[in-house]
Amino acid sequence: MPELPRVEVNERAARRLRDGHPWAFRSDLRQDGGAQPGEVVRVVVRHRAGGRNGLGLAFFNPRSQIVLRMLGREETPPGRDFWAARLEAALELRQRLGGGDSAGRLVFSEADGLPGLIVDRYADVLVLQTLSAGAERLKGLFVELLSARLAPRAVVERNDSTARRLEGLPEQTGLLAGALSGPVEILEGGLRVEVDPLAGQKTGHYLDQRENRVRAAAYARGRCLDVFSYQGGFGLQLKRGGAAEVTLVDQSERALQAGLADARRNGLEVLTRAANAFDFLRDAHAAGERYEVVVLDPPAFARNRQSLEGAARGYKEINLRAMKLLAPGGVLITSSCSYHMLEDRFEAMLTEAARDVGRGVQLLERRGPARDHPERLGFPEGRYLKCFVLRLP
Ligand code: SAH
Repeated sequence: MPELPRVEVNERAARRLRDGHPWAFRSDLRQDGGAQPGEVVRVVVRHRAGGRNGLGLAFFNPRSQIVLRMLGREETPPGRDFWAARLEAALELRQRLGGGDSAGRLVFSEADGLPGLIVDRYADVLVLQTLSAGAERLKGLFVELLSARLAPRAVVERNDSTARRLEGLPEQTGLLAGALSGPVEILEGGLRVEVDPLAGQKTGHYLDQRENRVRAAAYARGRCLDVFSYQGGFGLQLKRGGAAEVTLVDQSERALQAGLADARRNGLEVLTRAANAFDFLRDAHAAGERYEVVVLDPPAFARNRQSLEGAARGYKEINLRAMKLLAPGGVLITSSCSYHMLEDRFEAMLTEAARDVGRGVQLLERRGPARDHPERLGFPEGRYLKCFVLRLP
């Protein structure tokens, strides 16, 4: 095995890495040892008293603010078996989680010890994202190992995420293996849903909300509203659960068309409204509409810390308006997928909205992403999705 380049970090970074955090930043870097973007390197710290300690192995990328993404404390240069074992461990977890759905996340980046690698499964199709230079460099190997292990009909690359730009990687999509020309049908919580891995949003579907969507059916009653619906995953579950009327609201006409097709596929009926959600909620309130259940699942309003103030106002506005639309005993299923909106802050925002509507709101459930999106302890950056279920008297 060839010797790996040694990348030296400062003591502050060394402490963070020893505490289990998986990242070192550009400002932590002392020496790059001639390492190339995407290479696996040995991370070391030199102590003031002299002497050098190994901290483990990492993906290196000098083009990113996150220059090092830790792979673990191992010292042996990773070969094919190392990567195969990491993938196998991730697959084994998903097998153990079970569930009858035919779609889910198989690999979730740092949380599965594969920084930057995302693998989603839609029936017999795999969708890959390589969002770090290290994962990008190993893309061919990952496709080969996954193909040998799972025999998918196709492997699709959805590397059109803006996260790639931050790593100095080009945005690209397409087929990496097999053949696929259109959408794939999956099973989610008893419903047949069509997902388009090549052209849908994200990798085709918002898999992180899967368990929350299925859970929503338990609250179905009367008139329901699914706002920021995308293809209506929440709304269809509400309808399946026995709601009398369900309206999907999204600004994407294409997403609503897909939602209508999914509804037909399952013998369900839903209404759709192509609109800006902010306007829709305001107009519905002005018109005196009332609903038993409102779902809010907006995109990340806060993309960075600087935009958090404006984002917090946006979150509060839609939540306040949604609360005002609820009939007595009505339920609000409200989410934020913005990492910068920490859970405490999210709860404080909802508390303010509850105060403004003047109704003592009950918190029924504090939920997160589906279990196939594990979190890594000591790595708050990986915790992003909050989903609260509230009931208004
Ligand atoms: N609830 C969905 C995922 C929603 S993703 C699910 O479980 O599958 C967020 C959605 O909000 C996207 O479909 C996007 O098209 C839509 N969107 C973003 N901004 C919007 C706005 N201002 N008004 C209405 N829809 C918006």
